[in-house]
Amino acid sequence: MNYRQRQQNLMRALDKQKLDAFLVAHLPNVGYLSGFTGSSGVLLAASPRWSFYTDGRYAEQARREVQGARIVIGKGSPLAAAAAELTKLAPRTVGIEADRLTVSASHMLGSLLPKRTRLVETNALVERLRMIKEPEEIERLRAAVLAGAALLAPAVKAIAPGVAETAVAAEIEYAARKAGANGMSFETIVAAGARSALPHGLASSQSIPRQGFVVLDFGVVFGGYCSDMTRTVHVGNPTREMRALYEAVLAAQLAAIATVGPGVEVARVDAAARRSLRRGGWARFFTHSTGHGVGIEVHELPRVARGVTEVLQPGMVITIEPGVYLPGKGGVRIEDMVLVGQQGAEVLTPAS
Ligand code: ZN
Ligand code: ZN
Repeated sequence: MNYRQRQQNLMRALDKQKLDAFLVAHLPNVGYLSGFTGSSGVLLAASPRWSFYTDGRYAEQARREVQGARIVIGKGSPLAAAAAELTKLAPRTVGIEADRLTVSASHMLGSLLPKRTRLVETNALVERLRMIKEPEEIERLRAAVLAGAALLAPAVKAIAPGVAETAVAAEIEYAARKAGANGMSFETIVAAGARSALPHGLASSQSIPRQGFVVLDFGVVFGGYCSDMTRTVHVGNPTREMRALYEAVLAAQLAAIATVGPGVEVARVDAAARRSLRRGGWARFFTHSTGHGVGIEVHELPRVARGVTEVLQPGMVITIEPGVYLPGKGGVRIEDMVLVGQQGAEVLTPAS
């Protein structure tokens, strides 16, 4: 991982925003910029040097992991320690992560900093850097996707009428851990029968019925990077309507994937899925966005949604996951991870 490059990229972004310093409190951003993987730490990006603040529990880990910043082990909150350093530096402007910092933390900062220092709310400065993956990140994502896709077989094997959704989730998660996953990238979704019409139907104690769809949406964290995939299977004989529903979602997913490439506005990818579903009259049952970036976190930029003007660039990794949900009847979602390449798109998810 090229931490030096990442830190230089952030400094350039700070320059553009006329920020003298920047406080990084969102842990995935702290990790991205410094290498730290613990659960308590704050990074202060300021010239002439960057500083990383944590507490005694992470002294050893910080020494092993943190790059490009001096390490400060404190007794109190890392944020207060960073504020003390800022008081010494007395910059004119300090950027904070407006959508990550709590109200009380920003009040505390405001009360500790000198009068001449102004807190500036920023949005997604680091998250925007994270959109473009380095070659090593892409390799890790490939490994995560393969590990995730390998869980489909044990999941499908566990599915039978009368089996609880949680029991299917358990097979997925057990297999993931045995394969070396750090954990799941989000709570496993197993939604059967009428519950398959819930886009976020977390596995419940409900049993799988004799007939109907089962939506499986799951992902692993592998080497610090997330996978995310959805497959929908059917138990018993599907009706003609259910078969048509499945075919429509698959066609919409393929249509969206076909538009992915460098220079394409993400709203166009989203529109391709909706246009495809409109043909069969399904579009109004597609109630969420088409996809999202994936990396250190399972939901990253860019959002692949209506009205988003972000343009796809080589190195972005996004999901394409249209779904159609018929209340009371059932739903279908199909999700793959896709890498934006120099020429076009590469579907990373190998499952059929
Ligand atoms: Zn998913
Ligand atoms: Zn997803």
